[in-house]
Amino acid sequence: ESAQNRIAAGEVVERPASAVKELAENSLDAGARRIEIAIADGGRTLIRVADDGHGIPEAELALALERHATSKTDGADLLDIRSFGFRGEALPSIGAVSRLVLTSRTEAADAAWTLRCDAGRLGAPAPAALARGTVVEARDLFHATPARLKFLRTDRAETQAVADMVRRLAMAAPEVGFVLRDLSEGGAKASPEGRVLFRADPEPGEPRHARRLRLARVMGREFTDNALEIEAEREGLRLSGLAGLPTYSRGAAVAQFLFVNGRPVRDKLLTGALRAAYMDVLHSGRHPAAALYLECDPQLVDVNVHPAKTEVRFREPGVARGLLVSALRHALAEGGH
Ligand code: ADP
Ligand code: MG
Repeated sequence: ESAQNRIAAGEVVERPASAVKELAENSLDAGARRIEIAIADGGRTLIRVADDGHGIPEAELALALERHATSKTDGADLLDIRSFGFRGEALPSIGAVSRLVLTSRTEAADAAWTLRCDAGRLGAPAPAALARGTVVEARDLFHATPARLKFLRTDRAETQAVADMVRRLAMAAPEVGFVLRDLSEGGAKASPEGRVLFRADPEPGEPRHARRLRLARVMGREFTDNALEIEAEREGLRLSGLAGLPTYSRGAAVAQFLFVNGRPVRDKLLTGALRAAYMDVLHSGRHPAAALYLECDPQLVDVNVHPAKTEVRFREPGVARGLLVSALRHALAEGGH
């Protein structure tokens, strides 16, 4: 693997949290019902994502680690939101900057197979033991690119960023169970199971109910019990979710969670619109907690503006912004504010 590829990889995988996001999103794409994530030392020495999804056939293992190889179809399917720009980059990129082991087993296979990739150098597939699903283990992230290692923050800060990411992924997929464990050896009384940093079992019930349960788990009942129900539609964009009132504000912009087509995003336009709406109706410059889900035709939004960032670009930004502002205004008015 050339140095250039490793640099390109560093653009995709900025820090452990971005690797966790890519790997867990692959698990979601594979239809996983349980995703178990483990890290050690802030993800620097170990990131492991294990799922019970459909797995990768032996013949496609190497392909999955090759640049621009994606099994995900182009076309009108929902996964297509990820097809703009940076498809089939995550696994090869993580493999280029770590010691990666990919192990997988499909339902049809009678054995699991494993394949190593060390700083971009692929090994040969070997038989392994695993029930159905996929395990990606990335050790020593950025060991081949020391310059990138220097950009990492403290283990504590990287662990926090991973935990935040896992919470956001968990809010995006209420029907999926998530566990995040810290396997750092330094942490005293470390059991082989590690320390559980986050756990959410699959939420039961129909989607709306499951989402509310999951939001209560992640953001707290104080938020879900007092938030306004948001529901609106405009020109092919559908918005739903819960918006808090300033009285229940947790004060920081981090408490505002946005999802586009089932993926957590951070978007200045949407956060700005949210703030504008509150300002408009409540004349309050505070940033109440909110969890808002936007659904639209994948053609109308590019979620891969930059691979490591979670920004989105709407074909018609004015529509998304207008929808958010009017939906909030409406909900706040209904709620008597
Ligand atoms: P993309 O997700 O854009 O297709 P990735 O580099 O993230 O690209 O993954 C490459 C391919 O590897 C995927 O298209 C998929 O076929 C396969 N793959 C990766 N992770 C998993 C997983 N957890 N379960 C099943 N298949 C996976
Ligand atoms: Mg992917």
